Amino acid sequence: MTQHAPLIDRFDRRVTYLRLSVTDRCDLRCTYCMPERMQFLPKADVLSLEELEVLAKGFIARGISKIRLTGGEPLVRRDVMQLVRALGRELGNGLDELTLTTNAMQLATYAEYLAAAGVERINVSLDTRDPALFAQLTRRDGLERVLHGIAAARAAGLRVKINTVALKDQNEGEIPALIRWAHEHGHDLTLIEVMPLGEVEGERVDHFLSLTAVRAALEKHFTLTDLPDSTGGPSRYVRVEETGGRLGFISPLTNNFCAGCNRVRVTATGQLYACLGGAEQVDLREALRSDAPEARLAEALDTAMQIKPERHHFRIAEGEGPALARHMSVTGG
Ligand code: SAM
Ligand code: SF4
Repeated sequence: MTQHAPLIDRFDRRVTYLRLSVTDRCDLRCTYCMPERMQFLPKADVLSLEELEVLAKGFIARGISKIRLTGGEPLVRRDVMQLVRALGRELGNGLDELTLTTNAMQLATYAEYLAAAGVERINVSLDTRDPALFAQLTRRDGLERVLHGIAAARAAGLRVKINTVALKDQNEGEIPALIRWAHEHGHDLTLIEVMPLGEVEGERVDHFLSLTAVRAALEKHFTLTDLPDSTGGPSRYVRVEETGGRLGFISPLTNNFCAGCNRVRVTATGQLYACLGGAEQVDLREALRSDAPEARLAEALDTAMQIKPERHHFRIAEGEGPALARHMSVTGG
């Protein structure tokens, strides 16, 4: 029966990882992610928390064992803990890991609830520890809140990985200090290359920084030892011998990681994107709002496996628009 069959695509990749966006809204406005006056999705188009739960459970029935909640900012979705608790109850019943990616603005409020619901680790996005640069990059004052949120997560027993977008002439010079700070506090840190998703103000290429160049620069400060890939994802990890901590590199533009891709993404309106860098899409909301949601959802997931592309085709170049019109805050990071 297709309702319980594992999700395997045409290239024999088993899909076990769902990134689920619960909102496209956000309490920050990171310059590389969205414009100041971001046009958010109409609320009626966004899945209800109940629909998100049915959807997630439909995926779990098909062998999805890891769910990451994202956005936009997942913690600005009203009553999001209702969904977190419901999915937390699936841990051990097919679901192995429930996690989320957050900007940490609301984390001090939610850290303990997340831990109580069964979340063990989270990703926090932080590009700088300089208050002025934070305000410039996010267009909001919030660094103190974010650092407080990270401390609260640690105190609640959550493992925190820091994600940092590497930005030429912005946080470029601060990266070694960020790595030292993260490792001193027991956090892994992953560096991310800017991806050409959605229109933003300014030319993204101005701040594009190749992680190959970042790694070369870091090797002047640190001894980096390659580690075997343990996540099955696009990160490549090294150990920083001087700190003993782990450092990851996510470079979709300069490195191809598609062969081992095990994931799909679903937007807050229930659009499944089979690839972050592609337009292949299946409407799960239509299935969810039909007379036979479970059966239609299972069919839609079969379709998704048929259209998942072999690899992405990102490019970032001067004078070109975004490779894809949708913003990262829509598909989720
Ligand atoms: N608001 C949450 C946060 O910032 O962690 C979750 C959603 S955010 C879209 C997820 C990740 O995507 C963040 O680490 C962010 O830095 C990253 N991101 C956003 N736009 C990006 C872009 N154009 N290229 C690369 N990373 C991007
Ligand atoms: Fe919001 Fe995350 Fe995008 Fe920043 S990266 S604007 S925190 S969704």
